[in-house]
Parts: sequence; C-alpha cells; structure tokens
Amino acid sequence: MINSDEDYWRWMREYPARAAQQAEIQAAARVGERAGAQQVELTLDSLLAKLGWTRRYAEHAVQPYCSCWHDWSGCVHADDQEITPGAA
Ligand SMILES: [Zn+2]
Repeated sequence: MINSDEDYWRWMREYPARAAQQAEIQAAARVGERAGAQQVELTLDSLLAKLGWTRRYAEHAVQPYCSCWHDWSGCVHADDQEITPGAA
C-alpha cells in the first residue's frame, strides 16, 4: 500500500514496468482532462484570478522598485503601501 511519497518512489523503483504503465495511464487521463476542460481566455482578470492577486497588487508588482519577486512579504514598498497579493 502506498501511504507516502517515499512509498510511491520505492514502488516506482521496485516495479518499473508497472510504474511506466501507470505513468501512461495517468498521461492519458490528463489528455482527457484537458480535452474536457472549458478553455479560459487569457485576460488580465483570468490571470489575476488564477494567481489570487488583486489588480492593485499586480500594478505594484510590475513597478521597478518592487522586490516582491523574491518574497512579497519582504518588499518594503509593499509593506509601506500595505499591499498583499490577495487583499483588496
Ligand atoms: Zn513589491
């Protein structure tokens, strides 16, 4: 029985043929998942929703002084402006 990542990787090493078969099954399932999914148009709103960002945060994040790419909570400009990715 697989109860952890360690169990999974041990199983993958011990049963490579079954692991390869399982990988093929999973890849086929992903193809079906993508084929059945309603495509979402790329817009600023759809991207912000996916990232969980507000527009205010995105506008902050593209500014040259922003250092959020390393750690948003460590960006002094975001702290100064009390901007967080998901807060309105
Ligand atoms: Zn920032």
